[in-house]
Amino acid sequence: LFAGPIAFLKSAPQLKFLPDPVVPEVAFAGRSNVGKSSLLNALTGRNALARTSNTPGRTQELNFFDVGDPLAFRLVDMPGYGFAKAPKDVVRKWRFLVNDFLRGRAVLKRALVLIDSRHGIKPVDTEILDMLDGAAVSYHIVLTKADKVKATELDAVLERTRANARKRPAAHPDILATSSEKGMGIPELRAAILGAVTD
Ligand code: GDP
Repeated sequence: LFAGPIAFLKSAPQLKFLPDPVVPEVAFAGRSNVGKSSLLNALTGRNALARTSNTPGRTQELNFFDVGDPLAFRLVDMPGYGFAKAPKDVVRKWRFLVNDFLRGRAVLKRALVLIDSRHGIKPVDTEILDMLDGAAVSYHIVLTKADKVKATELDAVLERTRANARKRPAAHPDILATSSEKGMGIPELRAAILGAVTD
């Protein structure tokens, strides 16, 4: 399916603009600059499917991508969080949009929470993890930019992240380490997504 057609469907700045919930969905979350756009592009083999949006004041939107023809499932790029200088109303809007989406989207099968391999889970990530646990949306933690750390450091952050995930009700115990740059973990992540949308 990842080799077939994948196309941008629409952006939803508010819940009333969501597409009809007709197929399973998998959503991507992560702090700004975590490598979310790069990972989406690596997964789909498209260079510019997801564009970076690193401007704090920018509109916060959910971006939907159709996978397969006939349509099989959708990828949802959730707005990034954790901008150092984000205006308060932007943060509030993010919180309401993401929380309402997570709680109300029956077709949402899985979320992928992206965490930088160099940093591990930080306080800035706890809000989305709490929201996912609260909404009972099962999620996979995905380490990004694994090429930027040594193998021993990667093992250590994997172990720390695994221990953290075990304490959370909706977290999948397997943590995936990826590098969009090197293609590491990408086939495994595709398999995890296909598993989530077909079970
Ligand atoms: P986003 O804000 O989460 O969408 O992050 P981007 O995908 O725009 O990536 C942020 C920065 O990290 C960019 O400069 C990317 O080139 C870099 N980056 C993303 N993924 C990787 C990776 O796997 N390895 C390395 N070395 N750099 C990456």
